[in-house]
This record gives sequence, structure tokens and C-alpha cells, in this order.
Amino acid sequence: MPARLVYEAILETGISVSLRYEGHMSRRKQIYEGKAKILFEGPEPGTLVQYFKDDATAFNAQKKAVLDGKGVLNNRISEFVMLRLAEIGIPTHFIKRLNMREQLIKKVEIIPLEVIVRNVAAGTMAKRLGIEEGEKLPRSIVEFCLKRDDLGDPLIAEEHIHAFGWATPAELDEIIAMTLRINDYLQGMFAGIGINLIDFKIEFGRLATDTGHVVVLADEISPDSCRLWDRDTNKKLDKDRFRRDLGDVTEAYTEVAQRLGILKETNNKTAPVLSVVSNDD
Ligand code: 5GP
Repeated sequence: MPARLVYEAILETGISVSLRYEGHMSRRKQIYEGKAKILFEGPEPGTLVQYFKDDATAFNAQKKAVLDGKGVLNNRISEFVMLRLAEIGIPTHFIKRLNMREQLIKKVEIIPLEVIVRNVAAGTMAKRLGIEEGEKLPRSIVEFCLKRDDLGDPLIAEEHIHAFGWATPAELDEIIAMTLRINDYLQGMFAGIGINLIDFKIEFGRLATDTGHVVVLADEISPDSCRLWDRDTNKKLDKDRFRRDLGDVTEAYTEVAQRLGILKETNNKTAPVLSVVSNDD
């Protein structure tokens, strides 16, 4: 199959046009393809390359679309967040961003839990408990779901985690402590740019060490996995724009990136991503 030459340009970033041969990409060993990311074998043992796709899915992949530029924005936003979290001592799988769509990460054994933190009622919690969306919760609440797409990632209790051995009590203590620290930090970080952090989902992994393993944050943190509402207008700046057909999805992600200072402010509100595909070898 001929290599496909893909040009990409995010005009506001000041980053010049990047060229990539998809043919070259496909020669790397693919380890796993998820809904929004692909994992390839990394250049060194114990590393992986994480590629951010433009694919968007919702409702357990029943709703699908391709949103031009989403992968580039999530790569940049997630890099920014991982670097800030490292500064406050949160261990993560992130090593460095390689290019507009890829990060070098440490290979970990993923703990099969989705850890959700909620500061304000929204989404499935609002529905499940009959609370109006937008109601501030009495305190931040941590929930666990089992990572099982075939079951729709069911909500579970700590008891299930202990009984089925999905994480040890010590690992779970660390996960909860790290999650609350991450929530505190991110709430402050987003408040500083006029955004309320409503809720978010993260995952953790076991990173092998000489003496055993340590638990590290092993996920992206981006508008795909957080609910982010403008403080003044409550405008949604996250994946709910896609889930609920509100439109302007990449524009909202671009706004988050611009407010974080990742993208330069311009008059043009969107970050146009040009993808030109040719069949040249
Ligand atoms: P909810 O349970 O209300 O649907 O989601 C709570 C929070 O976790 C939201 O910020 C949502 O974006 C995030 N979340 C829940 N499940 C997933 C998932 O499977 N993938 C991603 N990326 N985020 C999720």
C-alpha cells in the first residue's frame, strides 16, 4: 500500500507545518487501538508511543465522529496537565511529547478501574441520583467504574475492588490520595482561567521498579475526559458538546487550550487543522 503523505498545520500555534508518512507510522508495531488513541511499541524497552486520534465516541461507542484537530488539541492539553502534575509530585506515565499527535510514555500494567471525581452534579450521577445538573456537591466525591466496555463500564464499590482483587488496599489508598490531590490542583488551575472543573475520569497503572512496582497516573487529562464549564456562563467546553450535539466541539477544546496559554490567542477563534492526503510514495 502506498505511503500516504499527511500535512497538518495548526495555524495559531506558531508550529510550522508538519509532514508525516502514514506508511512509516504503520511499520511500527501497534500494541493496542482504543477509541481515541493508538499505542505503538516505543523506541526503548519499557516505553510506548501514544497517538491521539481525531475519533470521538460516546455512549460506549454507539455514537461516533471524526473531529478534525481533536487529537492534536488533546495531545497538547494533556501534555500541559501532565507537566504541571509532575511539578507537584504526582507520578505519571508521561515522558515527553514527540510531535503534534504523539507522546512517549512509560509502559505500565493498567489497573482495570476508571476513577471518577465529581465536584458538581452532572452526567450519570445527576441522572442516577435525581440531582439537578450544576448543583454543587457537599464535597468532592470519588467513584469507581470497572473498565469493561462490553459491560458499559459499570459503577462499582470499593468492596468489589477488594473482593475481586482489582487493586490491593494499599494501591487503592494511593489511588484515592493521588486522585484527590490531582482534583485539588486541577480545580485551582482551571479556576485560574475562568473554568469550573465539574468532574473528570482518570486511570492508573503499575510501573515496574527494581523492587516491585509503583502506582502512577496513566491516562490523558483533556476535555475528552473532564467536564469543564465556563465560570461566568456555564458554557460547556468539553466532550458533552459532542455527546449532546451542542456543536463547536473543537472550537471549545481550542478555547481551553488558548486559556491555558498553549495556543496563541487570535481573532480567528478556531484552530483550523488542514489534512491533505495524497497517494505519493
Ligand atoms: P459520567 O459518569 O457522568 O458520564 O462521566 C463523569 C466524568 O468522567 C466525565 O467528565 C466524563 O467525561 C468522564 N468519563 C466517564 N467515562 C469515560 C470514558 O470512558 N472515557 C473518557 N474519556 N471519559 C470518561
